[in-house]
Amino acid sequence: MNIKRYVLGNSVTTATKAISDIMTLFDITEDKSLNAENIEDFELPADVVVVNNQIIEEQQRVIVNTELTVHNLPGQARRFKKVSSTAIDDDVSISADKRLTMLNLLSAMREITGYDPGPWGILRGVRPTKIIHRLLDKGLNKVAINKVLTSKYDVRVSKAELVTDIALRQRPFLLQTKDSRRMVSVYVGIPFCPSRCLYCSFPAYVLPESEKISIFLQTLEKDIRAAKAIIMSHNLIVQNVYIGGGTPTSLDNKNFKWLLNIVSNNFVTNLTREFTVEAGRPDSLSDDKIDAMNHYRVSRVSVNPQSMQQKTLNLIGRNHTVKDIIDTFGKIRQSGIPILNMDVIIGLPGETEQEFSETMMQIASLNPDNLTVHTLAVKKGSILKNAVRSGTKLNGVGDKIQHMIDIADQYARQMDMYPYYLYRQKHMMGNLENIGYARLGTECNYNIQIMEERQGIIGIGPAAGTKVVDNSNWTLKRCYNAKDLSSYINNIDRYTSIRADLFADLYTRK
Ligand code: SF4
Repeated sequence: MNIKRYVLGNSVTTATKAISDIMTLFDITEDKSLNAENIEDFELPADVVVVNNQIIEEQQRVIVNTELTVHNLPGQARRFKKVSSTAIDDDVSISADKRLTMLNLLSAMREITGYDPGPWGILRGVRPTKIIHRLLDKGLNKVAINKVLTSKYDVRVSKAELVTDIALRQRPFLLQTKDSRRMVSVYVGIPFCPSRCLYCSFPAYVLPESEKISIFLQTLEKDIRAAKAIIMSHNLIVQNVYIGGGTPTSLDNKNFKWLLNIVSNNFVTNLTREFTVEAGRPDSLSDDKIDAMNHYRVSRVSVNPQSMQQKTLNLIGRNHTVKDIIDTFGKIRQSGIPILNMDVIIGLPGETEQEFSETMMQIASLNPDNLTVHTLAVKKGSILKNAVRSGTKLNGVGDKIQHMIDIADQYARQMDMYPYYLYRQKHMMGNLENIGYARLGTECNYNIQIMEERQGIIGIGPAAGTKVVDNSNWTLKRCYNAKDLSSYINNIDRYTSIRADLFADLYTRK
């Protein structure tokens, strides 16, 4: 059945977001132009499904009756009914009424469409590992957690085991020490790139003329000094420093050295555990920049080929060759910077499983210490999204994507790496996940902290997010700098003041 739209029946008054979340998995959107009042009275088009959902609460139990109606033949309606009930418990992060609505709907939609939207069941969030950490906090063991994931969220066993294993490996990085409350990470975002990648939805700009860069760097300096004032006034310890973007190495040699100098002087101390720089694009690196990273004791560099297929690099808008990637990687390795990461993307247009396998073989021969395996997400604002609208075909079959994830996993294990962080995004192909792998002892602490949200992060630069975390209950507050470069430059004082208030609120309150 080719269902494209859904309409809410009269019984639906709550859990509408839960319904929309599941329908999105089937690429079905709500059509508000159809009138729910007389929905039963007229013959519906065959591409519409009517959702009715009744939620009853009685004696500490929740009962949800879900009924879906489709008109697959002229004059004939088919109804699909699902009834679920549960005690109102607190083992899960979604309220019982919403959870049962999602489970009922997922099951009915699988039956109606014959399509399974992936292995994560009703889990929709970016950070599934956070759920596991909450369950671990409550004292549940691995077996019990996997049972919660499979029975209450309908997650497949393989993904339940993956995400639980990752969370268990992360625990030592999140353990509380006497200094934990004062431990923070610093993120500095540089929003420039040599060219724009096909799939990019970040607010990244192709490098502007030097006058604009200079105004940007003056603003960044203000931002850095204001961040330093926060650290000083609350006696914070910077555990991790991460310069990302964009591509920070797209700055010229002089500006890049200036950046490393100011970041290092203000944030790196002998208590700082790691200092990462994203050098994602090999066409942005020079010998001088590699020397500067060494000089300022950068401990981790990320070179991100995404693919080792030249035709794919051309297609995604990279102005460099596969050889450039190999040469750049070799130079950074030779320079003695301790940890090197490489990123790949699964599902890039036109890439076969065989080609992805060849990419992995080449990555393995370079032998990085970390590997980040992304699944392509077709995001709003990317050139790819428009291309798909105009007919570009993607390799979007879930099984094929999962097979490539398995290939990447096999290569990672051959390189003695294990998965240590995982996150998901909207619009990912096959509704799957991104996984970070590392050799034991080379894990990127910043990546764990940003995903698990158990450490404060001071965000500097356009679009950078700041988070303050109350470690008595793991609640957090956040604020963001403007994505748009001009708004960031024009309103920097306002952004730094909001950020300072966030920290003052947490650290002077206790
Ligand atoms: S390197 Fe990253 S930030 Fe820059 S254009 Fe490509 S995807 Fe976007």
